[in-house]
Amino acid sequence: MNRTASLWATLIALIISLNAMAVEQMSYTPRQTTFRCPVLPQATAVKLRLYNQGTGGTAEQTLDMQRATTDGDVFELVVKGDLKGKFYTLDVQQDGKWLGECAGINATAVGVNGQRAAVVNMRDTDPQGWKHDRRPNIAPQELVLYEMHHRDFSIDASGGFKHPGKFLALTEPQAIAHLQQLGINAVHILPSFDYASVDEAHLERAQYNWGYDPLNYNVPEGSYSTDPFTPEVRIREFKQMVQALHQAGIKVILDVVYNHTFNIDGSNFQRTCPDYFYRKTADGHYSNGSGCGNEVASERPLVRQFMIESVLHWLKEYHIDGFRFDLMGCHDIETMNAIRQAVDREVGRDIYIYGEGWSAGGCALPSDQLGLKANVKQMPRVAAFSDDIRDALRGPWDDDRKSAFLAGKPGNEMSIMMGIVGAIEHPQVDYSKVNYSKAAWATQPTQMISYVSCHDDMCLVDRLRASIPNITDDELIRLDLLAQTAVMTSQGVPFMLGGEEMLRNKKGVHNSYNSPDSINHLDWNNLERYPQVMTYYSNLIHMRRQHPLFHLGDAGEVRQRVQFLDVQQPCVVAWRINGKGIKGEAWNDTYIVLNSNRHAVTVDVPAGDYTVVCRNIVCDQRGIATVQGGKVSVPAQSALIFHN
Ligand code: CA
Repeated sequence: MNRTASLWATLIALIISLNAMAVEQMSYTPRQTTFRCPVLPQATAVKLRLYNQGTGGTAEQTLDMQRATTDGDVFELVVKGDLKGKFYTLDVQQDGKWLGECAGINATAVGVNGQRAAVVNMRDTDPQGWKHDRRPNIAPQELVLYEMHHRDFSIDASGGFKHPGKFLALTEPQAIAHLQQLGINAVHILPSFDYASVDEAHLERAQYNWGYDPLNYNVPEGSYSTDPFTPEVRIREFKQMVQALHQAGIKVILDVVYNHTFNIDGSNFQRTCPDYFYRKTADGHYSNGSGCGNEVASERPLVRQFMIESVLHWLKEYHIDGFRFDLMGCHDIETMNAIRQAVDREVGRDIYIYGEGWSAGGCALPSDQLGLKANVKQMPRVAAFSDDIRDALRGPWDDDRKSAFLAGKPGNEMSIMMGIVGAIEHPQVDYSKVNYSKAAWATQPTQMISYVSCHDDMCLVDRLRASIPNITDDELIRLDLLAQTAVMTSQGVPFMLGGEEMLRNKKGVHNSYNSPDSINHLDWNNLERYPQVMTYYSNLIHMRRQHPLFHLGDAGEVRQRVQFLDVQQPCVVAWRINGKGIKGEAWNDTYIVLNSNRHAVTVDVPAGDYTVVCRNIVCDQRGIATVQGGKVSVPAQSALIFHN
């Protein structure tokens, strides 16, 4: 590039970065604090109220904000003096009506229960060494995702955590040691932004919620901090969590819920820009594609900008490594692509973005514009969960008693094959025989999340018990391990629900979003009760990560190297991955067979000297036996993996 070209490139980058710059709601210096509030053009006034406490009491000062000279749709005010420690609210007047105090849509720090925003010097919230914090260098195809809820993970006494149920639990040595031993390299944390349904002022009461009820999108949740009253604490502790996980080589992925808010009337959106942030149906009602009473209008310019800036805030301030979009099928494709591009500019392509490619009800936007699974090809480097492989393994989402492949039910093989290739086009995958998707929906295998269970619906143990009458404990373990072998040998990105590695159950509760700890908690004693389960999961995950043939990462490579065997028997899926010539891969032909029959089967493979690395619920990549090819026996209800 010559000098003129390079100057232009710099200038363009500068313009882009200015465009992407957030409307900072509060910028603090010891001499003065600047407040800003974006509004609709019809807004006529904004009041700023300053408080000494995050809740209760009366305003110390009530000040009029001014329309900004640079942007007529922003009100701003500079308040002289050191305001650190103060709390504030914004109150917008529109159509002659005061809309009511709120924390503002762009609050980055709040008091207890998120009712008032706080004046904070964000640099005070950085833990020691934070500026040296670096994201682990892990490409999307190398990820193994572990979905967890802070309280589930560490609340039970059996875990022995010093900070049960808190962000800080993930900084404790036994948490890090467990995650490393398991081998996952990304934790996907359930909603950890400030949500409404847990009363942060009374954490001594029994309270539990998953947190899918957003209040302040750009602030960590208070109930996971050791002090929800002091605004800096939750921010600092969240960063300590990220820092500890990064040091352990583990990425942190945030579950983001931009598709709806806790309520409409009291929300920051509604009190700042009435009716702008929510979609309405043709007959004037609030649309409810989220199933939670409202649906955010991601396609509107201010909303799109808000979502982009919110994601960038988590990237820049908290060093987040990826985002899981709740009900991505409620968002428009253009916004998802705009977020992808903004993230690429800010950090790069290794920030992983995925979501649920469905909604929970009809949306007030045509489906060809929505971030649905069927539209994933229009969202490069954005992934979606595959309900196809999930339900082909465990049974359909709408009936816990129904089973599928794991119960030895024929007819699910093609749906599993589709999941194995990562939902891409493959010459041997006949999509007309796939359960849900009648066409390949991913361009690249990294656009498909492979999984069998998550926080929604029953966990794997409960589902196996509910769908397979009279299942024995031995069968339960065999099928659990078989299920995760399918997940972990997929060319998609594998994902597991935290606690499955210790055979968690939720006592059969289908939707445990507000169930007590006794239902949701992990029982760490299970590691001793079922040591073979953790050992298998761990060995399987490490094997996947250490062998590139399990995560080729490119559709062309998958089509060329993954070849299914013509097994001619039900409830068997078998394939060969050609590992020859892959950089860093020591294995050549590698065979994987999933057999859910209650009897052993045989498969035909070419003669040769093969090393068995997984057989009869034992997995060890160093090798557990040898076979000579020809007719190879695959024990009942288990996976066989061998290579030469
Ligand atoms: Ca909260």
